Amino acid sequence: MTPQELQRQFYEMLLESQFWSPGQLADYQRSQIEQLLRHARRNAPFYETRLDPVFRADGSIDWNRWHELPIVRRADMVAHREAMLARELPPGHGATSVIGTSGSTGLPIEITVNSLTRIANNGFRWRLHGWQGLDWSRVLMSRLGDGDHMQRWPEGETAGVWGPPWDDSARHGHLFRISRLFDTPAVLRFFTESGASYLNAGPNMAHINAIDARRLGLSVAIDAVLAQGNVVREADRAAVRDVFGAKLIEHYSSKEGGQMAHPCPEGTLHVNAEGCLVEILDGADRPCAAGETGRVVVTPFFQTAQPLIRYEQGDWATVGEPCRCGRHSPAIKAVRGRSIAIFQHPDGRSVANLMPDETAGLLGSSFWQLAQVGPNAYEMRYIPADDAVLGDEDRVRQLFADTFFADAELQFTRTHDIRLSQSGKLADYVNEWRPVN
Ligand SMILES: [Zn+2]
Repeated sequence: MTPQELQRQFYEMLLESQFWSPGQLADYQRSQIEQLLRHARRNAPFYETRLDPVFRADGSIDWNRWHELPIVRRADMVAHREAMLARELPPGHGATSVIGTSGSTGLPIEITVNSLTRIANNGFRWRLHGWQGLDWSRVLMSRLGDGDHMQRWPEGETAGVWGPPWDDSARHGHLFRISRLFDTPAVLRFFTESGASYLNAGPNMAHINAIDARRLGLSVAIDAVLAQGNVVREADRAAVRDVFGAKLIEHYSSKEGGQMAHPCPEGTLHVNAEGCLVEILDGADRPCAAGETGRVVVTPFFQTAQPLIRYEQGDWATVGEPCRCGRHSPAIKAVRGRSIAIFQHPDGRSVANLMPDETAGLLGSSFWQLAQVGPNAYEMRYIPADDAVLGDEDRVRQLFADTFFADAELQFTRTHDIRLSQSGKLADYVNEWRPVN
């Protein structure tokens, strides 16, 4: 089977499997995970004995002991990188490549991926486009990445079709890429001149574009923002809706876990259960119930070049209620933010926490960024909604002390220019003093 035939077959399976019963989904997941477990145990030294709890003496899998498998941490990705690589891949899992992940939440890590993961991710994205009513014959402008080849102005880089290549309507569509380093007027001008309907961007970046457009009086209609690479906040949704009239479509994804969850037509974030197992765990590593918030632990099924079995993704998420759309894959109520501590006190303590939701309201700002800039020094940068109105900085300073470190100093900076972090992301929490893992 050619890669394109495999691609089409997987996508067509996803159109059916989205309506499988919970029992069918569970059976499918177990068969995929079982193959992954056997492959990892045989081919990757890191997993040679680590998976023993679930293997019975006769070699069969004891699913009741799944929770006994140790969780793979980010530090393992650095310390045991070589030992995690598989000596051999299952047939058809494709060529491998090495990608680096963002260092905005700690030290950068590398992961080796195989091409089957790309086939799976394409399939999930196309299914999402269908859920959200996107039209592959229209123009998608992607503002991600910053390679030299994307710097061209004004024509950008054309990258062919963005829908399934076998689909008749998709043949009329185009994808344009431009660098995320372009400022808002350039981005919006390019968007208009390329006849685009949809924008691929980080949710923070799209939010800043909206604030800039409002301030500069630029009027552009965007049908949908395909948001990736960062946690989506309600404020991001509101900004792109109010300014561009755009629907913001969340892609919960990572380089390690792939496309992990997408919103159905009802707006519920559903785990892409055909490609990964997503666990949301409490402080004692027990599964959270609906409405509870815990840490995301992911097991991507097709990631066989460097298997990740119970990998701690580094996000907080809240478990959702079953959705009424007819899809039975698990629902995530919201992905909340990073669960990996990135701020560190000089005494060695680090705290994984998020500022309370009321922060934006107190600052009179829909967009803020909190940066560690010294051993015990922090800066809260925020874009004021109204330059004439000061935020309640004293109250936010108190919330910061309660949330992070009571003795740390916090400065406030009102700005219209919040910069990208070194990783090229526009993050809400950044450590510019000393990234920690
Ligand atoms: Zn649903």
